[in-house]
Amino acid sequence: MEKRDYYEVLGVDKNASADEIKRAFRKLAKKYHPDVCKEPDAEEKFKEVQEAYAVLSDENRRKQYDQFGHAAFSNGSGAAGGYDFSGFDFSDIFDNLFGSSFGFGSSFGGGSRTNRATRGSDRLMRMKLSFEEAVYGCKEDINLDVVENCSDCDGKGGTGEQTCENCHGSGTITTQQNTMFGSFLSKTTCPTCKGKGVTYKHTCSTCKGKGKIKRNKTITVTIPSGVDNGDRLRIPGKGSAGSNGGANGDLYLEFVVEEHDYYIRNDDDIYLEVPLTIAEAALGCKKEIPTLDGNVRLTIPAGTNDGDKHRIKGRGVNNEHDRHKGDMYAVMKIVMPKKLSREQKQLFEKLNKTDLKNSTIDKFDKFTKNNH
Ligand SMILES: [Zn+2]
Ligand SMILES: [Zn+2]
Repeated sequence: MEKRDYYEVLGVDKNASADEIKRAFRKLAKKYHPDVCKEPDAEEKFKEVQEAYAVLSDENRRKQYDQFGHAAFSNGSGAAGGYDFSGFDFSDIFDNLFGSSFGFGSSFGGGSRTNRATRGSDRLMRMKLSFEEAVYGCKEDINLDVVENCSDCDGKGGTGEQTCENCHGSGTITTQQNTMFGSFLSKTTCPTCKGKGVTYKHTCSTCKGKGKIKRNKTITVTIPSGVDNGDRLRIPGKGSAGSNGGANGDLYLEFVVEEHDYYIRNDDDIYLEVPLTIAEAALGCKKEIPTLDGNVRLTIPAGTNDGDKHRIKGRGVNNEHDRHKGDMYAVMKIVMPKKLSREQKQLFEKLNKTDLKNSTIDKFDKFTKNNH
């Protein structure tokens, strides 16, 4: 298959800025993400978008591409393969995809210059739920790598605290640089205590002096009934660890809810298509309607039309979070027989000889007759 132009894939101009490219990518990646998009070729499109972004977001690759086109990245084999993007790190973009305010731990260990308490960054995780799990609520175990303060040293990295000899407790050192323009004094973070102002006689062996340890934890989360696609649940304190005694960030769970074979959800209301035979619709009938809390017997009146809706109050989603209960709508769907037996055919023909017309049909016939 012919490879599409990368600019075309992202829907941007040839001289689009890096920012425009990033924005276009985020939008498309979100749209085609296989967890979210139900189109059959979502995964292919998603990959195409990823590939285009991998090239256009990198200044060098983009230059090569502008000059040589796709040939810049094919291995000369001419086969379908092309450039290998497996080494390209999308994670920073993806982690941020569903919310821009998430820092995702990147600030951790970056060597902040102050010893101010800093709150840990928030984390976002996506969680798949079945339709029923979302509607009725559930308990889910999630496995997390959490960075926590080391309990053996209280997150300090050692015991036997003493004032740093190198910086005398200030955390910074002043160095003099002699240059041809004269000498300059510059302040830098003390390398001995890394800005803390204190050192420890004994380095903690558990955390090797870092003050933090990474732990794999399984936590059980209670998901309230009624959550929907894209809803987020905040789990306090389960994000990244804070530094210098700062609080942990929060964990956000974002739900991806699977579709149901019969129920269609619209906020807290549930729509259900109920198939009727032509005779049931014409004569009326009683029907068992499966709702979220058991079956309900519904009287379908004679002369029911395709698409007629019956509201069954309070039988929609019980939304714990919003304290709201939705309704169910049973939508009538008249199903025509595909094949008629000889007897059925005769009966229909007989029926057709009776006057089946009503005011709607009469009106339409009049419109047809007067149409020029
Ligand atoms: Zn120091
Ligand atoms: Zn420790």
